[in-house]
Amino acid sequence: MAEQKSTPSVSPSSPSSRHGGSRRRNVPGRVCIPVHTSLALVLILMAVIGYLCDMNKYAVVALSEPKVTSSGLLSAKENGSLSQGHGDVDGHGKVAIERAGVTVDSVISSSARSASESEAVSASLKSKTPLPPYGSPEYLAIFVQMNAKHNRWILSPFIPQKTLQCIPHPLQSWMRNLLSGTAMYFILSGLWSWYVYVVRGHVYFPDGGVPRTEDMLKQIRVSIVSMPIYSALPTLSEYMIEQGWTKSYHSINEVGWPTYFLLLVLYFLVIEFAVYWVHRILHDVKFLYVYLHATHHIYNKQNTLSPFAGLAFNPFDGIAQASPYVLALFILPIHAMTHELALFFSGVWATNIHDCIHGNVWPVMGAGYHTIHHTTYKHNYGHYTIVMDWIMGTLRDPLKQKAPGKGKEKGAGIKAE
Ligand SMILES: [Zn+2]
Ligand SMILES: [Zn+2]
Repeated sequence: MAEQKSTPSVSPSSPSSRHGGSRRRNVPGRVCIPVHTSLALVLILMAVIGYLCDMNKYAVVALSEPKVTSSGLLSAKENGSLSQGHGDVDGHGKVAIERAGVTVDSVISSSARSASESEAVSASLKSKTPLPPYGSPEYLAIFVQMNAKHNRWILSPFIPQKTLQCIPHPLQSWMRNLLSGTAMYFILSGLWSWYVYVVRGHVYFPDGGVPRTEDMLKQIRVSIVSMPIYSALPTLSEYMIEQGWTKSYHSINEVGWPTYFLLLVLYFLVIEFAVYWVHRILHDVKFLYVYLHATHHIYNKQNTLSPFAGLAFNPFDGIAQASPYVLALFILPIHAMTHELALFFSGVWATNIHDCIHGNVWPVMGAGYHTIHHTTYKHNYGHYTIVMDWIMGTLRDPLKQKAPGKGKEKGAGIKAE
């Protein structure tokens, strides 16, 4: 109880609350990041760095997989050559879709090979094997093999290997995205809700205002119904990358770290700009709002929003808002796995901005801003930052809301930490 008194929820008129209550002293200029958000960001950052630093293993493993030739499938071992030069290049740099089809089949067949054999071959190639020419069938086959490997990892515990081999590669990818997306949704939103409502509920919601179980179940139902269609978006982007239709590349070593980061910044700038406008159009065009976006705005009060609302959209609304992540691949060369992680991170972000706990970190479009979006319908359309809203004049600060009928500033009633 002592902690409860010392850590009150945000009171709109309380100056200290504007900087996060007692957990956050009123220190001008202090940057305040919610504990759970910090933890999640650190874990994600560590996972991303670990994954990216280990990227080359996919190239090596991919090249160590059985070779694709016009006459069928030959293993690298059988052919006696472990270097690149798969003998399938037509010499004109042409990416033949028919051949890509053969590649997909071959890769799926190769999934039956023992993991230990692949590991042994890849170990002998590590750090030595150059990538095939960008855009060549062999280069594109690396994407296919990488995705096939991910399919095996996720699906093989649930589907027998022989059955899996009979399922077309794009369908496998969709099943993998559906399964991992659903698991991510329940694990992330479940843990997030448990933390903010149960573990830290006395801090963030001392006066109640926790969403009802009924509201959360509604959000879960909408999300689960939409999940199969959401899963089509990463499946489509993987397919387009595999076919060589995008500018995506496989290994960071192909461009170097400085260029990688520069492109990544540009990627997120494009996404920020595009998501703002897609979201705003979903509000400004009446029939789009009524038939698509209104589903998400059922939860228009702060105590009805929860982390489970993060994916509670009409599926086509969700795809429309996430489409900039995919469309940007046609104008910017983006690392393929980073693109997939960015799509994954957009789901994490959606969870974060629906917990109604205002982080107050400039210029981040945190939950405080997004809760206002749900209550006014015409402010704070941005994705990760408040920059586009600031430029377009649609920004409303949760700590500077005017109380209805009163002349003084009032907070949004948003819980800050
Ligand atoms: Zn909206
Ligand atoms: Zn929302």
